[in-house]
Amino acid sequence: MKVQYFEGGMYEHMCPACGHLHYIPVEYPFSNGCQWSFNGSLEKPTFNPDISIIGRCHYFIKEGFIEYAFNCKHHLAGHKLELPELKNKTNL
Ligand SMILES: [Zn+2]
Repeated sequence: MKVQYFEGGMYEHMCPACGHLHYIPVEYPFSNGCQWSFNGSLEKPTFNPDISIIGRCHYFIKEGFIEYAFNCKHHLAGHKLELPELKNKTNL
């Protein structure tokens, strides 16, 4: 799977640019009011709208692919690649 449920209404995915997990709130808004729609697919996830982590990553997730905007602060800016597979968690 490429995304999985984390907690608090958030889903997590691996960001190949950072090498870290990013969390996307879909059930409840973040404290800053941001919230995303999710197509419910763990293999070909789509989130709307685009996701911006200030000063670092700005990207779209569509059909299991992550598409970085040109204003990212890393080497994958402007690139589109398949989301990395997540390892299964044993505590789910
Ligand atoms: Zn990132």
